[in-house]
Amino acid sequence: MNIHEYQAKAILRRFGVPVPDGHVCYNGASAREWAKRLGDGPWVVKAQIHAGGRGKGGGVKLARTSQEVQLIARNMLGMTLRTHQTGPDGKLVTRVLVENGCNIDRELYISLLVDRSTSKVTVMASTEGGMDIEEVAATTPEKIFKEAIDPLVGLSPFQCRNLAFSLGLTGKLLPKAQKLLENLYATFIACDCSLLEINPLVVTKEGDLLALDAKFGFDDNAIFRHLQISDMRDYDEEDPNEVEASQHDLSYVSLNGNIGCLVNGAGLAMATMDIIKFSGGEPANFLDVGGGATIERVTEAFKIILSDKNVKGIFVNIFGGIMKCDVIATGVIEAARQVSLQVPLVVRLEGTNVALGKQLLSESGLNIVAADGMADGAQKIVQAVAA
Ligand code: ADP
Ligand code: MG
Repeated sequence: MNIHEYQAKAILRRFGVPVPDGHVCYNGASAREWAKRLGDGPWVVKAQIHAGGRGKGGGVKLARTSQEVQLIARNMLGMTLRTHQTGPDGKLVTRVLVENGCNIDRELYISLLVDRSTSKVTVMASTEGGMDIEEVAATTPEKIFKEAIDPLVGLSPFQCRNLAFSLGLTGKLLPKAQKLLENLYATFIACDCSLLEINPLVVTKEGDLLALDAKFGFDDNAIFRHLQISDMRDYDEEDPNEVEASQHDLSYVSLNGNIGCLVNGAGLAMATMDIIKFSGGEPANFLDVGGGATIERVTEAFKIILSDKNVKGIFVNIFGGIMKCDVIATGVIEAARQVSLQVPLVVRLEGTNVALGKQLLSESGLNIVAADGMADGAQKIVQAVAA
């Protein structure tokens, strides 16, 4: 799960990480009022969308008067912002953050993430703040510094000093950097984060450290422990089909192809996508209906797949291990009737009671193409969609 910048900054503030004062606003008039309350300016108006690169796309603007804040906010609200992270469709801006502008001396980069290669939380720091870290890693990897944190010991003072020195944070900035890093690590652990990225972390002309941008990723498996955070979820930022699927406990990720896939088990779902590609087709989605697929869930899964207008055919690939094939077949037939299926449907069943399952499908009177094995099924659906 992701959250907006203004929400991220509220969390950081609570953990003692310095951020500029600011407030989220939904219209121009309130943006102007909040600007006046925040101080004498200048202010920065920032589009709140779940994507970075807003600065370059016109989503971060400086204002010198409160009237200017109002004008910029009014223009930004309702606009579709395109950045290199939003994709070509862009994202609709429905809220802006109005915050105090600061005098930037240097822009740095800091992130904490779960590093799978060391199985530890790792701090990444770079002097190249404000840039895409992927680009820095590709062109000047020597400018990225890392410290892997021992989970039992936590972030040690020597590691904070290492990081601070590599960023040139010495003298009066050193204790500030140390405190900031400790607080970031405390935030990361307390909130069950998968990612916490500050880009940029700035050194101001006045000699302070300030987190100017913040991005959080949370571990979805732990989100139930954080009601305040799960309340921050903004469904407008997510694919509506994926939201619908998650409400029915289906793992669904929409993709760009035209072959809908209904599969049980994540591994089989991945293999199904691979074999569709191998046979010259393009999957429209990843969908795992899980081990205990009931008729209701299979029906929901069909509805979600079919609400994607690009879908020209469906490939059902089920291995009945715990689930019996006749139960699955009944579910597929029922679902196909309920949604009055118009597109070709190829079904491959294997496992317990497979003969009975196949018999039910062939006697259903529905236009279902039975497949023998995965490769056969993939070829048949690719042909059906191409026809
Ligand atoms: P994004 O990463 O989406 O482009 P940022 O929040 O990082 O958005 O803002 C882009 C740039 O705008 C920053 O690198 C910084 O130079 C400037 N900026 C952002 N917020 C402020 C602020 N409060 N005061 C001064 N400059 C800011
Ligand atoms: Mg940024």
